[in-house]
Amino acid sequence: MPPRTAVFFHAHPDDEALLTAGTMAMLAAEGHRVVLVVATAGERGLADLEPGEQLGKQRLKELYESAAVLGCARVECLGYGDSGLSPTGGVAAERPGNAFIDADTEEAAGRLAAILREEEAGLLTIYDPAGGYGHPDHVQVHRVGRRAAELAGTPVVLEATVNRDPLVRALRLAGRFYRFPPDFDPRVFESAYTPGAEITHRVNVRRYARQKRASMAAHASQAAGGDGERTLAVMLRIPGPLYRLVFGTEWFVRRDLPPGTRLRHPFDAFPS
Ligand SMILES: [Zn+2]
Repeated sequence: MPPRTAVFFHAHPDDEALLTAGTMAMLAAEGHRVVLVVATAGERGLADLEPGEQLGKQRLKELYESAAVLGCARVECLGYGDSGLSPTGGVAAERPGNAFIDADTEEAAGRLAAILREEEAGLLTIYDPAGGYGHPDHVQVHRVGRRAAELAGTPVVLEATVNRDPLVRALRLAGRFYRFPPDFDPRVFESAYTPGAEITHRVNVRRYARQKRASMAAHASQAAGGDGERTLAVMLRIPGPLYRLVFGTEWFVRRDLPPGTRLRHPFDAFPS
């Protein structure tokens, strides 16, 4: 396989760790050029530090650490403001003037497209149309990313996602034995991410579990502190062998392929 360039577009530092770290480490190990682009510095993330410039700087530092572990050749931040999340999970009413969610799609896509052209990228990863669990910045990654690939003529676009089916099954099962907290609605997951039938790529990343875990660990400001359990903190406590099982697969959708397509590598069925 000839070496190619893959650009991974994410909303905030740490999104790459959860969704695509294994695939990034795999492509880098295979000799491809891996570029990581984030839209924001995640300066409204969950941390002990006050939201703002200081947290943004800390999170970018963590992003570089994660990128180094994964073998990235280049890291860019588009510099938009983290739009944040309202307590009910929607668009936050109070947000910075340059919030990513308020950015003009054409303008933001133009900036990403410039990087795609410069890199002669063969592949761009974005998010599914739902933005995974629905963070407004993640929905915006889908919109901006899709348009950027059009502008730059990037041949392959993959939506990084999670197979919703086992998630929904596990939550239904858990619901029979466990009373969810009142502010947690498991039905939200019935429309989050992507149903298994739409997923075209199942990438086995078990061999890169160590790098994926190290990438998560690099985002220390999100893994500790704050006033409750953080997703990252919980995940980092999963013992190694179990971790490889749970995080052994990364899922993608390529919309130009017929549903039911089952590929194993991001560059499989690469248009010639
Ligand atoms: Zn995010």
